[in-house]
Amino acid sequence: MALRPIRNTEELEKFTGKKTPKSQQEKITKVINTMPVRFTDYLLKLSKKSKAVAKQFMPDANELEDNGCEKPFEGVMKTGIEGLERMYIDRCIIMPINQCPAYCRFCFRKFYEKTSAPAMSYENMKKAFAYIKKDKRLKEVLITGGDPLMDLNRLEYILQNLREIPHIQDIRIGTRSPMFDPERITTDLVNMLLKYHDLEKMKPIELATHFNHPDEITPESIAAITKFSKSPIKIYNQSVLLKDINDDPKILEDLFRKLHLLGVEIYCLYHCDPLKGTKHFRTSIQKGIEIKKYLRGGNATGRINPAYIIDTQIGKVEIGVDSHIERKEGEYVWIKTPYKLNTYKSVCPNFKLPKDMCTVDKEGYISVKYLDAE
Ligand code: SF4
Repeated sequence: MALRPIRNTEELEKFTGKKTPKSQQEKITKVINTMPVRFTDYLLKLSKKSKAVAKQFMPDANELEDNGCEKPFEGVMKTGIEGLERMYIDRCIIMPINQCPAYCRFCFRKFYEKTSAPAMSYENMKKAFAYIKKDKRLKEVLITGGDPLMDLNRLEYILQNLREIPHIQDIRIGTRSPMFDPERITTDLVNMLLKYHDLEKMKPIELATHFNHPDEITPESIAAITKFSKSPIKIYNQSVLLKDINDDPKILEDLFRKLHLLGVEIYCLYHCDPLKGTKHFRTSIQKGIEIKKYLRGGNATGRINPAYIIDTQIGKVEIGVDSHIERKEGEYVWIKTPYKLNTYKSVCPNFKLPKDMCTVDKEGYISVKYLDAE
């Protein structure tokens, strides 16, 4: 579980065994200084064997490019409590910790370590429980971060308190640890979570994990995954579609088959968010649609067919299912969503749509502008 923060190019070279080209040194130093880079020992070993893994975690000069935004969902409803976010009626998100054992270079959390407190305060957690208790429409809580497995005391404190709120049913825990820090998944951890999992009372705990490439399926990650899939706790996977890593239907098919055979539910494939400095990771939406067509077109059983999700500024949408592309506007597309402005206002009366990014039709449905890629 040793974490290896990388503070300069010398450390990067020492841990990865790769020389940073002279022409790149200044830029890579800037990336390291502004967007933290961290590995686990396990991930360092895996990165040496797999280009697809290395590309997800190694700092890259392209991260300095100034396109896209720093946070993909500016339209989030303000709860007024740091560490508690809500975009939907029946569920909310608690983020007890803002750090991950390693930082995926395509994720907005890499900005958090410099811009946010390392963890949610106990005072804010208490406020979050009071907020959740007051609104009986809330049925589900996602505990994410950062990686909530980095602080098990905080995680258990949250689980204890949520289980005292009668209307909260499903608790989901989001972690990429089975992929990059599999040692963190211990029998003690599973036993701790099982204390808060009660199917007879319809109060499950679920684990949401994140694998992007078949190279990530190793004896170590299999051991971590099966600790959950053999237990009563369900485990499901969310992948991110990444250029030159997994934007090939056969690679994803292979990954999804392996995960399925390990007892993991194949839940969704996310389009890579339009974040600052992620252009080199992003494919077009059309590419994602083609991958879905390949999987649906008789090549893969429905058990390994994830929903293809785009995380817009006002919520997640599935093109061709609940949403569609209305028109193109330069590098952007306008997406018609299933969300109504009144729904947001019923949860947060002061809710405002992100400026210049949305329109609302006569029936109240919102269309949102989204930065596509090549
Ligand atoms: S582990 Fe998850 S939250 Fe952490 S940086 Fe990667 S994608 Fe983001």
